[in-house]
Amino acid sequence: MDHCCGLTMVARLQNVFTEGSVLMQDVPILFCPTCHHSVIAPEIELDYQIYAHHCATDGIRSASLPDAIGDERILQILDKYPEDIRVATGQRVVQEQIDMTLDLMNFAKQIDDQDWYQELVERLRMFRELSNVTRQ
Ligand SMILES: [Zn+2]
Repeated sequence: MDHCCGLTMVARLQNVFTEGSVLMQDVPILFCPTCHHSVIAPEIELDYQIYAHHCATDGIRSASLPDAIGDERILQILDKYPEDIRVATGQRVVQEQIDMTLDLMNFAKQIDDQDWYQELVERLRMFRELSNVTRQ
């Protein structure tokens, strides 16, 4: 779940509008620098939901997640999913991802898994498009 596009996702803090219209500050979000998919860090998702619900019930419009769950847990998540080379260099796709996808395509072909193979072909196509965008 913490993988996307063949690599581990990267954590960063973001302010999030909850379903109950509470502005929740400093929520750890796992983010994929390649396809920009993002999810609330699974480690704190339940706490986030419960706290967001309490704030909405109490009519609070803005709250800080670290106040509720402690800085320690937030820092643990940031440590667990550090910035990678994609964030550091602004590249959407790195060679490692392309190499790994080609390896998996070979494997999928060997075991004759057509669906998986097609999925990987699509992924590679997306990688190529994204690397072209970066170069322009
Ligand atoms: Zn991705």
